[in-house]
Amino acid sequence: MKYQNSLAFAKQLDKEDKLSSLRNRFLIPKDKNGDDWLYFTGNSLGLQPKSTKDYISQELEDWANLGVEGHFEAKHPWINYHEYLTDKMAKIVGAKPPEVVIMNTLTTNLHLLMVSFYQPTKTKYKIVIESDAFPSDRYAVESQLKFHGFDADEGVILWKPRVGEELLRIEDLEEILTNQGDEIAMLLIGGLNYYTGQFLDLKRIAEIGHAKGCVVGIDLAHGAGNVQPNLHDSGVDFAAWCTYKYLNSGPGSIAGLFVHEKHAYKKDLPRFAGWWNHNKETRFNMRQPFDVLPGAEGWQLSNPPVLAMAPILASLDLFEEVGMDALREKSEKLTGYFEFLINEIGSDDIKIITPKKPKERGCQLSIQVKNADKSLHKKLMENHVITDWREPDVIRCAPVPMYNSFEDVYQMVEILKKYL
Ligand SMILES: *Cc1c(COP(=O)(O)O)cnc(C)c1O
Repeated sequence: MKYQNSLAFAKQLDKEDKLSSLRNRFLIPKDKNGDDWLYFTGNSLGLQPKSTKDYISQELEDWANLGVEGHFEAKHPWINYHEYLTDKMAKIVGAKPPEVVIMNTLTTNLHLLMVSFYQPTKTKYKIVIESDAFPSDRYAVESQLKFHGFDADEGVILWKPRVGEELLRIEDLEEILTNQGDEIAMLLIGGLNYYTGQFLDLKRIAEIGHAKGCVVGIDLAHGAGNVQPNLHDSGVDFAAWCTYKYLNSGPGSIAGLFVHEKHAYKKDLPRFAGWWNHNKETRFNMRQPFDVLPGAEGWQLSNPPVLAMAPILASLDLFEEVGMDALREKSEKLTGYFEFLINEIGSDDIKIITPKKPKERGCQLSIQVKNADKSLHKKLMENHVITDWREPDVIRCAPVPMYNSFEDVYQMVEILKKYL
């Protein structure tokens, strides 16, 4: 695609964009003059679909009118509420429906998955994680090591970018496994790195880990709803993600969990239990013995939090309508235009650290600004350009194909230029 650096061209791209009307289905925060914010933090908290309120109201109304009968009589009977989300979510992450369930929050799901899949021995116990992993993942992994009686410093192996580089190289992971594979029990990798925006080759990671008998888990917080991770085909053992970033389901909303089909019927895997991973047929007999459900549902503990799941259903219905393929197609174009405009600034002080190849990134660009400090971010905020600042000098910006326009991107770069 040949881009042009002009407002007229940006407007033309919006006109040609088949998904442009989706923006009207979202509530976009506005400044005092009633102008839309330039919102580039859908990677942190996605915007609210206008339909969300109705989905929540429906459940409040059914609760008001039906009380406990809502479990069976509500418009969407509550007893199965999580099931309404499964097929739609499975498509978004490229999984088979029985491989996916929505429950808990992301870090909680990582722990529950590690209860089953992190089974260290005295000699094979180490965990590989990327050096720029999101802090919660790092803490989770360290606490699992300690829980099993290991030293966290010794047990964590960091997959790092090479000196002077920002991005991870798959051959360095291979080398770690070649040299230390016999001591490694598990890989827990952020599939799309929150800091650099790098989208890793999950299939390759699974192959590298499995070749040395390691379990492979993926955190997809920044991947779900942003890229197509093809979880089933990738062959990774498990994954988890949140739904408040690209999946627009509201602050702290309930998370996703994936367990590959190959583990679906292993009833003897170690796991924690509650009534909700017990056989649906006999659940309400309220009697022993525990009989675990097959598939991802076999990791649930509690009955579905309906009011918290209603916004997820609202959002997933939008994704279902549009489809990941169409979103990805727009996303590559939108981020490509953003990259083009940043490069047009032509300053040596600016470097995009996100990979250049569209296949190796989602919509986020992480822009390093030499000698900048947080005051740059503050000035952008004062102009209602909402981005995310990461110390020491990186602005993370995510033009989200669901609601950001080509004009948003153009205006953002015009404002950025002013303050460089
Ligand atoms: C956003 C994010 C989290 C947040 O975890 P919660 O349990 O939802 O608070 C964890 N890990 C990664 C990689 C993230 O991007």
